[in-house]
Amino acid sequence: MSQQTVSSLRASTAPRICIVGGGFGGLYTALYLQKYRHLRKAKIVLIEPKNRFLFTPMMYELITDELKEWEIAPTYSSLLTGKNVIWKQARADAIDLHSQVVSVAGEKLGYDYLVVATGAKNRPVDIPGVEQHTLTFRSLQDALALKSRLAQIVQSQKLQPNPFAPTQIVVVGGGPSGVELSGKVKDYLTHRGLQNVRITLVERGETILVPFRKRLRRLAKKSLSRRQIEVMTETSVAEVTADTVTIETKSGRQVLPSRLTLWAVGTQPQPWLGDQSVQSNEQGQRLTRRSLQLIEYDNVFVLGDSATVNTQDSSAKPAPSTAQAAYQAASRVAKNLSAMTQGSQPKAFSYLHLGDMLTLGIGEAGLWSFGLAIGGQLAALCRRSVYIFRMPTRRHQFKVGRRALSQLGRAIFMPWNQ
Ligand SMILES: Cc1cc2nc3c(=O)[nH]c(=O)nc-3n(C[C@H](O)[C@H](O)[C@H](O)COP(=O)(O)OP(=O)(O)OC[C@H]3O[C@@H](n4cnc5c(N)ncnc54)[C@H](O)[C@@H]3O)c2cc1C
Repeated sequence: MSQQTVSSLRASTAPRICIVGGGFGGLYTALYLQKYRHLRKAKIVLIEPKNRFLFTPMMYELITDELKEWEIAPTYSSLLTGKNVIWKQARADAIDLHSQVVSVAGEKLGYDYLVVATGAKNRPVDIPGVEQHTLTFRSLQDALALKSRLAQIVQSQKLQPNPFAPTQIVVVGGGPSGVELSGKVKDYLTHRGLQNVRITLVERGETILVPFRKRLRRLAKKSLSRRQIEVMTETSVAEVTADTVTIETKSGRQVLPSRLTLWAVGTQPQPWLGDQSVQSNEQGQRLTRRSLQLIEYDNVFVLGDSATVNTQDSSAKPAPSTAQAAYQAASRVAKNLSAMTQGSQPKAFSYLHLGDMLTLGIGEAGLWSFGLAIGGQLAALCRRSVYIFRMPTRRHQFKVGRRALSQLGRAIFMPWNQ
């Protein structure tokens, strides 16, 4: 049998599918692939160095203790138990697209189909002091570090002779992360008895929450103003020290005292592990066809924050870099892999924007979906319910859902215990 016949046979009966990155793009692709009977014999390998998947949209609830670590960061071993997925806990070092090999932890892993979803990281900035004196909010470690800093602030404030001494915090970045962090941090500190918490949200642009609908933006602004969070737009950061942030506005420079500075600005794709001649855009995202295959390689799919559909030869609007877009793309990649392994053609991905949701403090949220905008506790309840159904695996959804129901039951029947 020729080499060609052997490899096409393998591709049709027991294809080797290698997935690099276990976030919304990669993990969900692996889980969607479980639905296809003909792929039961496929060798599906998921390469992911971290121990836990991170459900980023609910990371904020970890700092306020509304959710537990296991709820938003389940371990891969628990999620993949009983699934036809081999999880390799390691970082992929390089991909040879021509020879179809991934180098990982000193091993060479061959594949018939490759899925790359390595996500994004914080974009480094050239502003003095940012690296040393700010906290970022992308990873589980970031959330735990912030939580422990807030606990320290509470402790030291309680030792102050003057309980009304202000606790000043600066949050940089008026995107969803900056807005959501501001509300949660304010509520966390206030609920723990700090009397005078002053949060300033600094945004370089003319307004906050640029990509969101006006009505949701209005809800968010109202919620910030109710919490007396000062929003400074058209303001950029010039320098950060351990206890100050120097800002530049139209009227000049100003130094803000800051006990804690949170940096919620800018991301960039993780470095590409394959051949550098593969096309990319200015942000460093790989360009794909509408089917999410690389332009240059039929058997390689790239999705999530590290890729975008090439809009030059299609009228399609690119999907945003969000979890919502990544898990929709994962479903399309799984369908296309299923089709290709049966000799059918892959189809184009079409992104459907289902809406936007923001947490706006403890027990409060804002959401917009298909023209409807709601805020307050009802929105918080809807947001939590929607996200439970978006979590990976039915088993995990059930565990998290059960805890949410018992919390809700306690809130209704024993409100004095809250
Ligand atoms: C605080 C925060 C809040 C957010 N809130 C929302 C929200 O409310 N709604 C929303 O839609 N989106 C939200 N997002 C955005 C969302 O998290 C991302 O768009 C989404 O995670 C992108 O999915 P991905 O698969 O591309 O990347 P990720 O989910 O980041 O996954 C990438 C994975 O690849 C792994 N990896 C990286 N390099 C390698 C390598 N060399 N080898 C192996 N593995 C590797 C990483 O460890 C990681 O697990 C939020 C993001 C953050 C940080």
